[in-house]
Amino acid sequence: LFIAFEGGDGAGKSTQVRRLAAAFEAAGREVVVTRQPGGTPLGQALRDLVLHGDHMSARAEALIFAADKAQHVEAVIRPALERGAVVITDRYVDSSIAYQGAGRDLGVEEVRALQMWAVDSLRPGLTVIVDISAEEGRRRRGAVHDRLESEGDAYHEAVRRNFLDLAAAEEWRYLVVDGTHDPDDVHEQIWARLRLGQEG
Ligand code: C5P
Repeated sequence: LFIAFEGGDGAGKSTQVRRLAAAFEAAGREVVVTRQPGGTPLGQALRDLVLHGDHMSARAEALIFAADKAQHVEAVIRPALERGAVVITDRYVDSSIAYQGAGRDLGVEEVRALQMWAVDSLRPGLTVIVDISAEEGRRRRGAVHDRLESEGDAYHEAVRRNFLDLAAAEEWRYLVVDGTHDPDDVHEQIWARLRLGQEG
C-alpha cells in the first residue's frame, strides 16, 4: 500500500503523515515513512542544493526534483512495497506537477511526463491533498526558511489550484482534506477512507 501526502507548505502534511503511520503500526503493519525531496542520502544532497542553492533555472529545478524521485523510488519505496510494508511519503510526483508545472509555468503535461519517467511509472494507491489557501499557508510558515517558500501568494495559489485539479480529474485516487480543520478530525477522515481498503 503506497500513500502520498501533498499540499501547500504549512498545510499540516507532516502531522497527518505521523498520525497515519501510528494508526497503521497500531494495526500491526510495517510502515515506512519517507519524504521528497530528501528521502535518500543522494536526495538529501539534492534537497540542500534545490532549497538553499543560488538562483537556478526552472528546468534545472525540475530535473533536480526528478533525480531525487528516481533515487527515492528505486532505493526506498519499491523495496519497501515489495516486502509488504505500507509506504507513506510526504510529497511525490504531484508536488512537482503543481510547483514546477503550474507554479513555474513549465507545463503540467511536460512535467508529469518527466516525473513519471523518473519514478518508472509507480503511482500511489491513494494521494491525500491537505488543502490550504496561499494566505493561510504564508501565515503558518511564518519566517521564510528556504528559496522556494519565499515565492509570493500568486505562485502558491497556482500550486494549490493545480493540486485540486489533479484530485478532481481522478477522484478515486485522491482524498482532499481541509488543512484548517482540527487535526484529529482530518486524521479520522483519512483513516476512514483507508479502512474501506480499496487502495491496494
Ligand atoms: O515539504 P518540504 O518542506 O519537504 O518541501 C520543501 C520545499 O520544496 C517546499 O518549499 C516546497 O514548496 C518545495 N517543493 C517544490 N517542488 C517539489 C517539491 C517541493 O517546490 N516538487
